[in-house]
Amino acid sequence: MKLRKVTAASAAVFALALTATACGGDDGGDSSSSGSGGGKKIKIGIKYDQPGLGLKEPDGSFSGFDVDVARYVAKELGYNEDQIEWVETKSADRENALARGDVKFIAATYSITDERKEKVDFAGPYLLAHQDLLVKKDSDITEATDLNDKKLCSVTGSTSAQNVKKDFAPKAQLTQRGGYSECLSALQSGAVDALTTDDSILAGYAAQDQYKGQFKLAGLKLSNENYGIGVKKGDTETVNKINAALEKMVKDGAWEKAVEENFGPADYKYEPAPKIGQIVQ
Ligand code: GLU
Repeated sequence: MKLRKVTAASAAVFALALTATACGGDDGGDSSSSGSGGGKKIKIGIKYDQPGLGLKEPDGSFSGFDVDVARYVAKELGYNEDQIEWVETKSADRENALARGDVKFIAATYSITDERKEKVDFAGPYLLAHQDLLVKKDSDITEATDLNDKKLCSVTGSTSAQNVKKDFAPKAQLTQRGGYSECLSALQSGAVDALTTDDSILAGYAAQDQYKGQFKLAGLKLSNENYGIGVKKGDTETVNKINAALEKMVKDGAWEKAVEENFGPADYKYEPAPKIGQIVQ
């Protein structure tokens, strides 16, 4: 009886595995694409609305530092640009996207935190950013304490929103949106007084042609945001491969080239490349 049960269970697992394979893999990668010449594909999660980091351009191409890091890592994992399938992973969707196997890895301004480490694994860090405020040019908000009773916008599922509530402006009227570009519109229209997230992201917005001269960064280092590459919990093999790729990227100068190209136009003063496994608290 017991044996029969085990056999039935194994058959069910086998059937599930077959289904998963037929659906093109359950881990965002290594699947065969049928039809057009074959070849494996890799699905990578990025942001679509963060200039300088992860941006879907009007012509459908992708740009930004996270995108360049992801391309480099993908190459080291054995995938060329034409084998990459980009997937938008908004801040609140990242853990679930990895758990479901929608993507193989995520490079999307994704800070390594203990809370997130319970659900996903991280390679890196590969960049150190800091939380800051973006306000209108003529705003008198200069400190985090100025935010109490003010209208503030951030994004659901981000450390930025969490830090506001927990630490530096618990009395601010916090609006949470799906993406930072939505907060930017709210800031421009005057619906909110400030937008808070990583300085790397805010610098990219402030430098956009259509916003030039309208906004300023407060220049506060309200937190340390150690960007990691998220992978499915337990996928140590991929973490190790990505860490090796990131180390190589720094060593061969590609990391420096990517920060200069992507952050130079926004005049963002980036921190030096972090060491793998070294989190700045
Ligand atoms: N780096 C922060 C985070 O991972 C804020 C940026 C974002 O939402 O992606 O939550």
